[in-house]
Amino acid sequence: MRSFAELDEGEVGGVATAWRERSRAARESGFPYVHALLNEGREAGASLPHTHTQLAWLEAAPPAVEAETGDDCAVCGHIKAEVAGGERVVLERDGLAVLAAYGGRLPYELLIAPSEHPDGSAFESDLLAPALGLLAESLRRIHAIEGPAPLNAWLHDHGHWHLEVLPRLTVFAGIELGAGIYVNSLAPETAAAALREAAT
Ligand SMILES: [Zn+2]
Ligand SMILES: [Zn+2]
Repeated sequence: MRSFAELDEGEVGGVATAWRERSRAARESGFPYVHALLNEGREAGASLPHTHTQLAWLEAAPPAVEAETGDDCAVCGHIKAEVAGGERVVLERDGLAVLAAYGGRLPYELLIAPSEHPDGSAFESDLLAPALGLLAESLRRIHAIEGPAPLNAWLHDHGHWHLEVLPRLTVFAGIELGAGIYVNSLAPETAAAALREAAT
């Protein structure tokens, strides 16, 4: 199997169980933060031809997660506004929302998050398996539009945990890497509309 998109519901549930068990093992071994990620395609850094996720055991939350952590939950406000607006919503199901990222860095960048503020870690949540199921479905929709696309996805496990999904249909070059300015040729509203219509 080359893509996470090809996993059926039972197999996705198996991934969620493996993540939960290995994250517990990490905590018991003194690694409080686990960075769970999916790389697909050599262009996106995948090291094996078959689909696989990876868990990096870290001694502290990484900088990208620290940067998102504040007193109030920014994700709650964001999801409420996005669902009310609707034009960047790809789908909502099982208490989760899939959104085309507002200000996405690349075409079809997605955010998958619980619609309501969750309690505790993603690894211990009943919503983890459905969230990974929505990741697989989102990839099927992207593949239906664009064909097999290299991709990175990862979990940010803090407060209002979420999956960030970054298809690598274009490459980061001098302006992105040097200036931190991301040139995205596809408006998120257009991406969301296409993904809503796409076959699964
Ligand atoms: Zn929240
Ligand atoms: Zn995040």
